[in-house]
Amino acid sequence: MSRYYLTTAIDYVNSRPHLGTAYEKVTADVIARYKRLAGFDVHFLMGNDEHSQNVFKKATEEGFHNNPVAYCDRMEEQFTSVWKALNCSYNDFIRTTQPRHRAAVQKLAQAAYDAGDIYEGVYEGWYCVSCEAFKPEKDLVDGKCPIHPTLTPEWIREKNYFFRLSKYRDRLLKHFEAQPSFLEPEIRRNEILRLLDAGLEDISMSRAGQSWGVPLPFDADSVVYVWFDALINYATAVGYGTDDAQFAKWWPADLHVIGKDITRFHTVVWPAMLWSAGIEGPRQVFGHGWLHYGGQRMSKSLGTSVDPMEAAAPKFAPDAGPDPIRLYLTKEITYGSDGDFTWERFEERYNVDLANNFGNLVSRVVSMADKYRAGRIAAAGDGGRLADVAGAALTRYRTAMDAFALHEGVAAAYELIDATNGFIADNAPWKLAKDSANAARLDAVLFEAAEAVRIAAVLLQPVMPSSCDEILRRIGAPVTGAALRLGHAAWQPSGERTTVAGAPMWPRSETASSRREIIVSEPAAPAPPPAPTAVAPAPTEAATADARIGIEDFLKVELKVARVRAAEAMPKSKKLIRLLVDVGEPEPRTILAGIAEGYQPEQLVGKTIVIVANLKPRPMMGTESNGMVLAASGPGQPPILVAADDSLPPGTRVG
Ligand SMILES: [Zn+2]
Repeated sequence: MSRYYLTTAIDYVNSRPHLGTAYEKVTADVIARYKRLAGFDVHFLMGNDEHSQNVFKKATEEGFHNNPVAYCDRMEEQFTSVWKALNCSYNDFIRTTQPRHRAAVQKLAQAAYDAGDIYEGVYEGWYCVSCEAFKPEKDLVDGKCPIHPTLTPEWIREKNYFFRLSKYRDRLLKHFEAQPSFLEPEIRRNEILRLLDAGLEDISMSRAGQSWGVPLPFDADSVVYVWFDALINYATAVGYGTDDAQFAKWWPADLHVIGKDITRFHTVVWPAMLWSAGIEGPRQVFGHGWLHYGGQRMSKSLGTSVDPMEAAAPKFAPDAGPDPIRLYLTKEITYGSDGDFTWERFEERYNVDLANNFGNLVSRVVSMADKYRAGRIAAAGDGGRLADVAGAALTRYRTAMDAFALHEGVAAAYELIDATNGFIADNAPWKLAKDSANAARLDAVLFEAAEAVRIAAVLLQPVMPSSCDEILRRIGAPVTGAALRLGHAAWQPSGERTTVAGAPMWPRSETASSRREIIVSEPAAPAPPPAPTAVAPAPTEAATADARIGIEDFLKVELKVARVRAAEAMPKSKKLIRLLVDVGEPEPRTILAGIAEGYQPEQLVGKTIVIVANLKPRPMMGTESNGMVLAASGPGQPPILVAADDSLPPGTRVG
């Protein structure tokens, strides 16, 4: 069996994790569970970063004057209780104060020293205490750290040991060239390539005059700098410095899942450290985006943080467990881009994706099997159109998940769910049941629907493990739980199943924010005044005497609901934003929209909008725009997008 070793970043324990931190762990857990489903022997590492001056300071503030480790013990309980509440399936949880880590840090530091890559010098410059990082003057914004604009960096002058990072620039450049998928997504790779092009400076790898940290093996008066220390955790956890056989089995790591702000440490500094010690670098790094709250950076001090414990037991569905938030984080955010969370949107997606869609489908199939066949269903034939849809969904799912496009993997499973709902509506089993002449047809329809639900549950199992196991049980699936493999997502045209009825998986939430009626089949309401104006440059035409048009002209315009999957500012343009929108077609479309004066790109992701779908593609600024976004703007006002209800599936016709 092939092995797969993946890790998340380790966290400073000076405060409890918020949902932004949890976003990383949940998505990494989805990858870990997918790899297990795909048959890999998975080792999934999470952990805490304890040798931080922020942690030391916080421990002192909390009264742990002589025993910061006791404070870290308490925080470990808090962190792991959150990760357990979110059903994160880590195999190991490392803490950088553990003896195994001290051994690994000293071994690696000594190896780099012996290789001639560490030398003594004096560091003088700016230091951001919150980042625990030295900040070159050029990186400061108005004299402040760009990530911590409320803090003034400290000017530091002290004896430091330096790591010869500059020596590894050429090897790094070659590595990035030879391994195009080393750092994903592509936008992150381009950032690092620009950085390497500009050249690398040696970095400080120690701090003087501190006791909190791992002492340098070659100078006990200094401790290893927290970042140099922290990166080594990935090697420690699989036996570096303590268990050579383990290390040989699991190293190099297959994947480090990290935030986009720390890609430099992981793809430049970390490989160089390993190479210096004569060890292979990690195989792949994925830099995910940030989770915002209502469009703002999630931050405790700004009051914009969300408690993951609350998200794992939301007020609107207190018994649903962590699966709804796991689905939200995976499905609603393009993995690699920034995403947004609000309670309203979470509740809305819960009602649409789970209560009304997947949950309702499971209930219908099981209750019809119960009612018409006393819960016993059997295959009759090879399966019709749903078997084809399921096969296509599986292919698309695998491709997406292998490329860490988690949102697309989930979307593939939902295509099968949508098709199954359509299949039931078209075949109307309740009508077939009225005439015993249709008995064989009814058998086939019930089995086909149940088989499609089973496959959807297999595909979604990495995202919603508990719920999907329960669905598999109810649908009478022969294999569930940890024994499940991706091969079980193939259509199984034979066998007998016994379904098990139960209470609704996800009862619809009726709290205030979701009381809006959800209408899927009815046409959308007419757009409110002012009349929508197309924001992309419109052709200027001479006004005719009567500018009114007949209904036949209007019907030529195909207006459709679209969901924004990704958005980025167009370089060199003050007005244009490049959108990637889902219009319910196999591939998302690229549309350039002149809305940059009204929106930041990251605010747009997830919005449900209306587009002109049958506009001829037009080249604009080197990109082809394939459609037009509807937006309204008064004179001198920034444009406002014409929004559609989020319950409308992409591709729904508007008119
Ligand atoms: Zn900072």
